[in-house]
Amino acid sequence: LVCLAQDFDFFYFVQQWPGAYCDTKQSCCYPKTGKPAADFGIHGLWPNYNDGSWPSNCDPDSVFDKSQISELQSSMDKYWPSLSCPSSNGFRFWSHEWEKHGTCAESELDQREYFETALKLKEKVNLLQFLKDADIVPDDGFYSLDSISEAIEKGTGFTPGIECNKDSARNSQLYQVYVCVDTSGFNLIKCPILPRSRCDSDIQFPKF
Ligand code: 5GP
Ligand code: 5GP
Ligand code: 5GP
Repeated sequence: LVCLAQDFDFFYFVQQWPGAYCDTKQSCCYPKTGKPAADFGIHGLWPNYNDGSWPSNCDPDSVFDKSQISELQSSMDKYWPSLSCPSSNGFRFWSHEWEKHGTCAESELDQREYFETALKLKEKVNLLQFLKDADIVPDDGFYSLDSISEAIEKGTGFTPGIECNKDSARNSQLYQVYVCVDTSGFNLIKCPILPRSRCDSDIQFPKF
């Protein structure tokens, strides 16, 4: 009896706002390809269980193989940049995401499909546009958490998960947005459970 192909219930597709990743005490480093666009970037596509727990590092034998994503790399550089320090070219971040999360969805998606699926979701879930349509723009202003949540719901059809962090002045700010996706990776669904948000009722949308 082997414990293989651990199942999961749904994905969180998680995007990060670079202004909030950078605007904290820990700070950030731009990738070698230069300062990323002022847009949300992909953090990851994370298999999850309906009770809020999740599997991780499911297959130590499936190491990240960059040759499988060579055709996706220019899109990955653009839409999935790594902002951690020291400055890197993305491979470390992508490899971490594949090994920690992607390997738990191998029953549904191989490595190339996993990254391709995330890139397609990025196109579909255009957060910056959804927010702009509600006059919510990264201008260092404060917006109600509800107005941000409603603007995204208008765009996707479902209530998102919103995670905040704190800038160096301890202001609560928009950091990550979670939308839920079925196990095929194609269809947005109503979130079975929302991640815990840690946001104040009014949050800053920092410039990047
Ligand atoms: P943190 O503890 O900073 O919120 O998250 C640390 C890491 O745990 C994240 O980068 C991600 O890999 C994982 N993680 C956090 N929350 C969730 C979640 O709700 N679902 C899944 N699948 N992974 C999560
Ligand atoms: P905590 O006890 O603070 O919820 O979690 C401690 C650590 O375990 C954190 O790094 C958190 O990201 C991780 N963690 C919490 N819940 C889960 C889970 O359901 N699955 C996995 N793989 N890690 C988790
Ligand atoms: P998680 O475990 O939460 O899925 O991913 C977080 C890990 O990815 C951390 O070890 C972090 O240092 C690394 N990482 C590299 N680049 C980035 C980035 O741009 N944003 C975030 N949130 N984590 C990054």
